[in-house]
Amino acid sequence: MELKELQKRIRDIRKNSRREEKKGLIAVWKEKDRFNKEIVDSFVMIFRTKGCRWAYHSGCSMCGYFNDTNPKIREEELLAQIEEAKKKYGGEQLIKVFTSGSFLDDWEVPKNVREKLYDTFSSAKRIIVESRPEYITQEKIEELSSRQNVMVALGLESANNETLIYRINKGFTVEDYVRAAELLLRNDIPVKTYILLKPPFMTERKAINEAIYSVKFASKYSEVVSVNPMNVQNYTLVEYLWRRGEYRAPWLWSVVEVLKRTVEVGAEVVSYPTAGGTKRGAHNCGRCDKKVMKSILNFSLTQDEKYLNELECSCKKKWRKIVENEDYVWDYTVNS
Ligand code: SF4
Ligand SMILES: [Zn+2]
Repeated sequence: MELKELQKRIRDIRKNSRREEKKGLIAVWKEKDRFNKEIVDSFVMIFRTKGCRWAYHSGCSMCGYFNDTNPKIREEELLAQIEEAKKKYGGEQLIKVFTSGSFLDDWEVPKNVREKLYDTFSSAKRIIVESRPEYITQEKIEELSSRQNVMVALGLESANNETLIYRINKGFTVEDYVRAAELLLRNDIPVKTYILLKPPFMTERKAINEAIYSVKFASKYSEVVSVNPMNVQNYTLVEYLWRRGEYRAPWLWSVVEVLKRTVEVGAEVVSYPTAGGTKRGAHNCGRCDKKVMKSILNFSLTQDEKYLNELECSCKKKWRKIVENEDYVWDYTVNS
């Protein structure tokens, strides 16, 4: 698909979304995670902001985060969300902040809101915030350096520019990621990177190989690389393709394969598949999904490969066949 056509489709599909003018946090919960090679409790909060600036301009083909944003949200309402989160905070060591966009974008999260968040949770050992690379500037480096406990998560998705441009419409390139990651690292700010498993317009085999390549690439810059298997979100191009039978979320076997083949890359490689085991998320045959999901989570928390090695189910054969043969069918369909 041509880039202009891709961007138009993404925008057209999104127009059907009905956003409500809610003002509170989107969600808060607690979960286990890894920090300093140990399993710790983490506190997760999703802020309701105006959303991602890129999503107003164009947006990524799989991203439905805009569904929960409020374009009219005011600064005092963002500050009130921090108060709301504070009441639920129980002293967890690790804090994960999501905004459906970029925490470091001044337009989305003003500086004093960020400062208030750092101050409120200053006792946490680590606060992870997300940002697109273009907001990693010298000014932000100074802000983050003065805090010592902040890690920046960058959603690279793929280390292949062709995928970033024509499959995801990411709006930045691998080189932009490298610039941002190097600037963070030069200033001792730890980096986490997200890699997307199975963007649209790609076979299962290619998706596995590209994710492995991307994890290896990102591990040069990251303390943690998180493999995020696609989940089909509302009002996205991926959902449109999925409804037409032209997209299937990856197999959980593919997640296992990527994790197995990247165990020694240097960075910790983890995966917590959103909607895993459902039709919209990474899934297998239905019978083994729970077991495989549990093993993926156990591996992610412990980094112990044994959890990935003992998995079996009759559907693994079907998955193997797809991995081996889908490319031929795909080439035939696309080129005939
Ligand atoms: S950059 Fe992130 S938040 Fe923005 S549209 Fe893409 S996936 Fe969504
Ligand atoms: Zn199975």
